[in-house]
Order: sequence, then C-alpha cells, then structure tokens
Amino acid sequence: MDISAYKGIHVFCETSKGKIIENSLELLGEATVLKSKLSHNPEVTAVVIGHQLDQYTDLLGEHGADRIILIDDAKYAQYRPDFYAEALAETCKEYKPEIVLVGATLKGEEIGPTAAKILDTGMAAHCVELNIREDGQFVQVVPAFGGKVLGDILCPNYRPQMASMKAGLATKQQFSGQKAVVEAFSPDIKGFGDKIEVLEVIEEVKEKVSLGGAELVVTGGFGIGTQDGWQKLEVLASKLNGVTGCTRPALDEGWTEHEETMIGTSGVAIKPKVYLGFGISGAAHHTCGIKTAGLIISVNRDANAPIFDVSDYKVVGDWEAIVDALIEAL
Ligand SMILES: Cc1cc2nc3c(=O)[nH]c(=O)nc-3n(C[C@H](O)[C@H](O)[C@H](O)COP(=O)(O)OP(=O)(O)OC[C@H]3O[C@@H](n4cnc5c(N)ncnc54)[C@H](O)[C@@H]3O)c2cc1C
Repeated sequence: MDISAYKGIHVFCETSKGKIIENSLELLGEATVLKSKLSHNPEVTAVVIGHQLDQYTDLLGEHGADRIILIDDAKYAQYRPDFYAEALAETCKEYKPEIVLVGATLKGEEIGPTAAKILDTGMAAHCVELNIREDGQFVQVVPAFGGKVLGDILCPNYRPQMASMKAGLATKQQFSGQKAVVEAFSPDIKGFGDKIEVLEVIEEVKEKVSLGGAELVVTGGFGIGTQDGWQKLEVLASKLNGVTGCTRPALDEGWTEHEETMIGTSGVAIKPKVYLGFGISGAAHHTCGIKTAGLIISVNRDANAPIFDVSDYKVVGDWEAIVDALIEAL
C-alpha cells in the first residue's frame, strides 16, 4: 500500500433527531488538534451520511471542518449499518484520508469496524486519547489488560488509520464564521440490497439518568458488595443533591439497572465538580471517564488501591462506615 497517497483527517459526523451529535463535534475539535501537530497541515473533513443534510454545514465549519462531504440520498434517510459503512468505506477509497475518526456510539461501533474490514485496515476502538508522535505517527491510546495499562496502538503500514472515541473525552473547538468547502459524493453502494427492509422504527422509551450535567456524582464499585449497600449510596446521593454512577462490576451485579451511568471506556466520561468514589479499585477503564472531574474523593479499604493515585482526598477505610456517618451527619 502506498501510504504516502493518503492525506487529511476525516471525521464521520453522526446525526440524530435532526442534529449533529455532540460526540461528532468533539471529534471535529480533536481532529483540529491533531492537524496542528502534523507538519503537512492536513485538511479536516466532516463526512455526513443521511438525507437533507445542507442544514448542518455552517455548524460543522464553525467546529473545525475545512471541508464537508455530504452523502445525501433518500436511501440513507433510515439508518442501515450496511449502507452507512459501505458509504464511509467508499469515501475513504475516493478521498484517501490518512486518519478517520468515528464516535464510539451504537452506530459508530457498527459502521467504523465494518468500514475498516471493507478497507482491510485496522481500527482502535474506545480510544481514551489520540496523539501524534514526533515522527508524525498517529498514536491511539487504549486501555489494555483489564485496564491496568494504557497501550499505544499504531497502524504504520495500512491506511486509513481508524479510531473511535466516546463522548466527553475530546473537546469541541470553535471557529466562528469558518465556512467549509462543501462537496456532494454519491458512492455506488449495494449493502445487503433488498435482503433488509426497514418496516418500522420503534424507539425504546426508558427513563434515563444523565450524569452529563451532574455537579456531584456518588460512584460505587464492586467493593459495595450488596444491593442493600447500593441503596445507601442512593440515599447519600439524594441527600447531597447528586446522582449515582457505577463501575462495570457494580452494573454487572445488577445493583443498579442504569447502564447509562457506567463511567469509563465503555460508559460515559463525566465532568462533575465532585466525584465521590466508594469501593472502586481505579482501573484505567474506569478512571479515563473521570479525567476532567473537579474534586476526586475516594474511599477504599486498600491503602494501595490505584484509585488513590488520581484522587485529591483519600480515605482508607470501610466504605459503609463512612457512608453511614455521612448520612447521619447530613
Ligand atoms: C474492554 C473493557 C472495557 C471496560 N470498560 C469499563 C468501563 O467503562 N467502566 C468500568 O468501570 N470498568 C470497565 N471495565 C472493567 C475495568 O477494567 C475494571 O475491572 C473495573 O473498573 C473494576 O471495577 P471496580 O473498581 O468496581 O471493582 P474492583 O476492581 O473489584 O475493585 C473493588 C475495590 O473495592 C475495594 N473494597 C472492597 N471492599 C471494600 C470496603 N468494604 N470498603 C472500601 N473498599 C472496599 C477493594 O479494595 C477494591 O479496590 C472494562 C474492561 C474491559 C476489558
């Protein structure tokens, strides 16, 4: 593969309910940061797939896109992973970007790897950081070995280099008044043809807890031990006007049914003023989701727990005794 033929950074910009999602705007911002670190000043291109897309161009320009590729057709009005992934792959074949960023969303997690397979290249999923090395190599940082280490993933021999990232890890950038060059692209895609027919779209209506705007998050981990213990965290959170968040094991145990409150690589990244963590070891898969939290206070009975390395206040002790005392005091 002649990798020197590949130039520019593409960001797959996802739409939902008539809007470009925040995750995509953050990735556009991330692309502008990567661009500033690359000596050949590559173009940042937003790739949008769907129908009636003209409405998005101003917003994408103002968030960092130099160019926008619109793949606009009635056949993309309903989301179909086969169509979208093939269209993204065809865009890469035509425009030859060196880097492609995709949101680690339900759609992105289908489209990104499928396009990577079509293109016979690699994709680093759920990156927590993206960087450019001094020699210009794109570095995709991913937690590995159960979150105990952060690994640098490189894709030196294939293009494009593809990465996905969750919402909340990258930062939006504003380029007021920046107008991007808009191009229409109509790839000849087949997907699974008429083997798939969308009959109806049924949206699951479930009450969701949002950690996005929460100022205080009481987070519980596997150390909580029981459902009854979890209820104490709920009481504490409500007394503090906060919400509860969880680690993967606490969710797997079923102590909370709110999947959307799992914090970390496969969950959400949060920015509360205060994070209060109880019975959490501090695996990188979790702590990457609290990198931008304000004050981090952790309680763990193990004085050597890694969570203490990222905490402002450390309490070595039994979580339950501390939560009981806090509830009593409040
Ligand atoms: C691909 C992948 C993605 C992942 N994504 C995520 C993710 O998004 N979010 C996430 O959270 N995890 C994720 N994980 C799992 C992650 O690697 C860790 O296993 C998990 O974060 C550990 O959760 P924990 O700290 O609750 O449990 P543990 O690691 O079991 O830690 C429990 C802690 O509780 C302490 N403890 C026990 N009893 C008490 C007590 N009475 N009082 C005080 N402290 C006590 C212990 O000392 C221990 O430190 C992922 C893993 C993989 C492989």
